[in-house]
Amino acid sequence: MVVAREGDELWAAAFMCPCKCGERIELALIPEASPSWRLTSAAPKAPTLHPSVWRKVGCKSHFWVRKGKVQWCKEQS
Ligand SMILES: [Zn+2]
Repeated sequence: MVVAREGDELWAAAFMCPCKCGERIELALIPEASPSWRLTSAAPKAPTLHPSVWRKVGCKSHFWVRKGKVQWCKEQS
């Protein structure tokens, strides 16, 4: 995962979709953005994102990132 920051402020996270569809996912981390996510753990190798990531387009993957690991949501429809 790549986290873009400006000074002390994290403003975006980007990573390749874990389902291997090859698409790049970019998430806003600034509170002013909508939707936005929070990195509840900023450890570079074990980030935790909140809330879950749900792609509305493409592969429609729905998953959590906890401590750097992807946990798939089962209630996907
Ligand atoms: Zn995907």
